[in-house]
Amino acid sequence: MFLLKSIPKVDKFTQNEKFDDLASSLVVSITQEVLQNLRENILKNEVESFTEDELVDAVLQKYSELTKPSLQKLINATGVIVHTNLGRSLIDEKAFDKVKDVVTSYNNLEYDLAKGKRGERYSHISDVICRLLGCEDVLIVNNNASAVFLILNTFAKKKEVVVSRGELVEIGGSFRIPDVMKHSGANLVEVGATNKTHLYDYEDAITEKTSMLMKVHKSNYSIEGFSSEVEFKELVHLAREKNLIDYYDMGSGHLVDLPYGLDQHEPSVLKYMEENPSLLSFSGDKLLGSVQAGIIVGKKEYIAKLKKNQLLRMLRVDKLTLALLEESVTSVLLNKIDEIPTLKMLFTPTDELRENALSLQEAVKDICESEIIETKTVIGGGTTPNRTIPSIAMSIKIKNYKQNKMEKLFRERKIIGRIEDDKFLLDFRAIRKSEIEQIISVIKEISDV
Ligand SMILES: *Cc1c(COP(=O)(O)O)cnc(C)c1O
Repeated sequence: MFLLKSIPKVDKFTQNEKFDDLASSLVVSITQEVLQNLRENILKNEVESFTEDELVDAVLQKYSELTKPSLQKLINATGVIVHTNLGRSLIDEKAFDKVKDVVTSYNNLEYDLAKGKRGERYSHISDVICRLLGCEDVLIVNNNASAVFLILNTFAKKKEVVVSRGELVEIGGSFRIPDVMKHSGANLVEVGATNKTHLYDYEDAITEKTSMLMKVHKSNYSIEGFSSEVEFKELVHLAREKNLIDYYDMGSGHLVDLPYGLDQHEPSVLKYMEENPSLLSFSGDKLLGSVQAGIIVGKKEYIAKLKKNQLLRMLRVDKLTLALLEESVTSVLLNKIDEIPTLKMLFTPTDELRENALSLQEAVKDICESEIIETKTVIGGGTTPNRTIPSIAMSIKIKNYKQNKMEKLFRERKIIGRIEDDKFLLDFRAIRKSEIEQIISVIKEISDV
């Protein structure tokens, strides 16, 4: 009971000069928590003694944990370029510097400078995208999931949308096409079988309630063997003939030709624009390599209807998104792929990856065991399902640590690697040259040198 009595009073304790420059209300709330814990531990006989200094340190430590940013920089040594858990696509540093000026000032987000009147938020980006893709108009929303929702809600509420059973996808983070459709108010009409859907399946399903024929990209799986699907081109023709809207949720989509023959598996937006579709939508931060956004392109009359939907107000994007996206699509228009980190990583030849791996190996050769290996990696983010691209990795062994221990030691030091064939690997596909110095320091730290 003596210990309980010596617990300081909150008012007096928080007067300690070590708290002078801190936010007092936060200090008080942390102090209450620390003292409450102390009281409980004393009652459980788990505390023999304590000093005021120890309590002050406990409060200070909690304060610093709470106030330091939770989002932190990591090195992606998994090999997966579009890694949704690690932030998907990186923003180019130069592009970020350019937009900084605009977003830290007032700007013409919704202001027509020439006319001195209210302007249109989406106009900043429509010229570049329409020139790039040859579409009539563009709308940008928060992400591709919002794009799907807005399109279904606008055109198919209380009406029917025909989709192939082979395309009722669930992607990471439990985004399921049938569920999204239900919430949007659209009625799903499934056609075909899981492995095969024919054009006549769509045709037979059309009734007076049908508003849309929808195709969904199989983002994270593929159906192989005895299978067939209807090409979007055929759906566009059928929709036109029956006076319906055709819509393709392309998932990632991409604006440039991909290496390693990936184009066969992941459709390019340009290719589908050739069919003059009603609407297409795709993500801003998958293979486009920009900021999180959903990009809707297509015919002016349909985009105009989307813009009139009140829901758009809830899905609209900020100036930061528009400014960054404008930078990225301009880079694509100017064919400057190096300015888009996702594409730059994808196009880096394996010889260059090997050089980077060798430079790391050389720097740490006296402190750890390592081996350079040819490996394969996936692109990630629900793109190019079941396809791999070549990569170079370095397997590392420090002391006698097992691979799981190695993974943890690196992870605690903000380097995320992967384990393969019982080895801990750093895959160079998504490691930037500028990060190698930091990897060297971490290897030294773990090796105690
Ligand atoms: C990734 C994906 C989405 C969701 O896109 P976000 O930009 O992540 O919201 C929707 N549909 C498909 C087919 C996808 O692959």
